[in-house]
Amino acid sequence: MQFEHIPHPATTSDTDREAILANPGFGTHFTDHMVTIEYTDGQGWHDAKVEPRAPIMLDPAAAVLHYAQEIFEGLKAYRHEDGSIALFRPEENARRLNASADRLAMPHVPEELFVEAIRQLIAVDGKWVPGAEGSSLYLRPFMIATEAFLGVRPAKRYKFMVIAGPAGNYFKSGAPAVSIWISSYTRAAPGGTGAAKCGGNYAASLVPTREAFARGHDQVLFLDAVEHKWVEELGGMNLFFVFDDGRVITPPLTGTILPGITRASLIQLLREEGLNVSEEPYSIDQWRTDAQSGHLLETMACGTAAVVTPVGKVAGEDGEFTIGSGGPGQLTSKIREKLVGIQRGTIADTHGWVMPI
Ligand code: PMP
Repeated sequence: MQFEHIPHPATTSDTDREAILANPGFGTHFTDHMVTIEYTDGQGWHDAKVEPRAPIMLDPAAAVLHYAQEIFEGLKAYRHEDGSIALFRPEENARRLNASADRLAMPHVPEELFVEAIRQLIAVDGKWVPGAEGSSLYLRPFMIATEAFLGVRPAKRYKFMVIAGPAGNYFKSGAPAVSIWISSYTRAAPGGTGAAKCGGNYAASLVPTREAFARGHDQVLFLDAVEHKWVEELGGMNLFFVFDDGRVITPPLTGTILPGITRASLIQLLREEGLNVSEEPYSIDQWRTDAQSGHLLETMACGTAAVVTPVGKVAGEDGEFTIGSGGPGQLTSKIREKLVGIQRGTIADTHGWVMPI
């Protein structure tokens, strides 16, 4: 597909951009451009544009505003030491977007078009990819239903967009280990949309997340909706449990948790370290017991934004427990360094995960 480039004056000065890149935070600063591609039933994807970032026009009856027909992705572009820019497994994000699209009755974005849209954005906004360690350009591809129609059925028109912004540490504290709050709310029930990356899931997580923050924790932990017993995932991260006998457990993909791309990568990296990784249910009671007995050595939380972060403390209505020393564990630090090294090009990519652009 040909992308039309809308001419524009540069909106952010070099000085302002350098100041932002020196201290990017997360989710508050954006690059100068955006990609938009339209979809119409019967016609498919059309009118691909790279244009100056600006508010978009939507009819007040657009389906997304009423029935939340919206899906999104999150991935990062990394600056390598030689100045080049690379993505990490973007085709996996394209596949997950399409899996989300299936659940929300939305059209697929062809994988090549998804990656090309990102390339086009970085081609004009490449200066926004920070070079400092721990920093990257966070990319947010998303799709919304734009048809003006107030009926509950899949829309006939959509807009796919990519926006981006520089990112530093996800956790404000840049905490060496995070503290999590066991929510009494649930995130996803069997047969629901838990495995889809749709905005509605995150809207429903806001109250539990606010509760966790108000109690002084960094993230919210969701248990399963049926028995309220099995550990599922955090608000925006998957979990791994590391035991003293070389076993590692991560909750299985049963449709109620997001299939994280970091999760899939860690399963592979941990197995290559000789660990015995299994995807199996793990209960909150067992977690507490194993942490208290010392059988559980570490717990890691992982995701694109937070990379690999140690969980130090778990608290709920029934009290709290600490994992290991409450600080970063050995394996968590090692695997984080490995993953970050692959992403930043300082460790050889033997898996074909890194896509230079
Ligand atoms: N779970 C949830 C609910 C998330 O929002 C995310 C972030 N996308 C993850 C897990 C981790 O997924 P990934 O490793 O693909 O970023």
